[in-house]
Amino acid sequence: MISIQNVKKIYASSKGKVTAVDHVSLEIKEGEIFGVIGYSGAGKSTLIRMLNGLEIPTSGSVVVAEKKVSKIKGSELRKARQEISMIFQHFNLLWSRTVRENIAFPLEIARIPKSQRLKRVDELIKLVGLEGREDAYPSQLSGGQKQRVGIARALANNPKVLLCDEATSALDPQTTDSILELLVDINKRLGLTIVLITHEMHVIRKICHRIAVMEEGKVVEIGPVLEVFKNP
Ligand code: ADP
Ligand code: ADP
Repeated sequence: MISIQNVKKIYASSKGKVTAVDHVSLEIKEGEIFGVIGYSGAGKSTLIRMLNGLEIPTSGSVVVAEKKVSKIKGSELRKARQEISMIFQHFNLLWSRTVRENIAFPLEIARIPKSQRLKRVDELIKLVGLEGREDAYPSQLSGGQKQRVGIARALANNPKVLLCDEATSALDPQTTDSILELLVDINKRLGLTIVLITHEMHVIRKICHRIAVMEEGKVVEIGPVLEVFKNP
């Protein structure tokens, strides 16, 4: 489902060049929950942002759901992003829109007719357990509920891949667990491939099938969770 080949990303800033991702190669299978863990500055967000074309690699190739996202641009990239959606640490909701309207937003962009849109939004609200909160604004929701809106919005166009950028890092431990359970449920029910980045060990332990450990832009370890953590 995802193939990252020899990817390097160099940022040029006023302070000089920074190699954020350094010759990374990875294969992620369909239906996998794959985690990338590492300290701040290891290159995790740069890596995940290259999976949906938010960053373009300096060299190497990234193929996701059969699309070469390291090459495509414009409308082709926008279309690919319907299949490769993302959730964020700070949710990135539209604050002047209700729960229903936030979830409907990507369907509007995809020009789904209104009657179909309403039906799809109702399904998504049920899927993420937000019944009764349809007309609330984000400011009236708890952190966990906000992330449920983020997940429903990300799933609106039936993506093949869900990217999670520190998706539980702003949540308390109990809420984190309930969001992780929802992600596992979605992975099982929809067969969705999930890639998550986190600095939190227990997130990785709780839901990932396989993980990569990143340090200074490089993948220093990769394998099934139990195998990687078995090493001293
Ligand atoms: P992580 O997500 O693991 O914290 P990042 O991918 O955010 O790591 O950052 C990796 C490195 O790249 C860091 O040294 C960071 O300062 C640098 N970096 C990230 N984004 C930019 C940018 N837009 N411009 C310049 N340097 C950046
Ligand atoms: P958080 O506390 O979650 O970090 P932010 O204020 O950073 O919230 O906003 C999260 C997202 O919501 C951002 O993408 C921002 O652009 C968007 N946003 C914030 N306020 C509004 C608003 N009044 N209308 C539409 N979008 C908004």
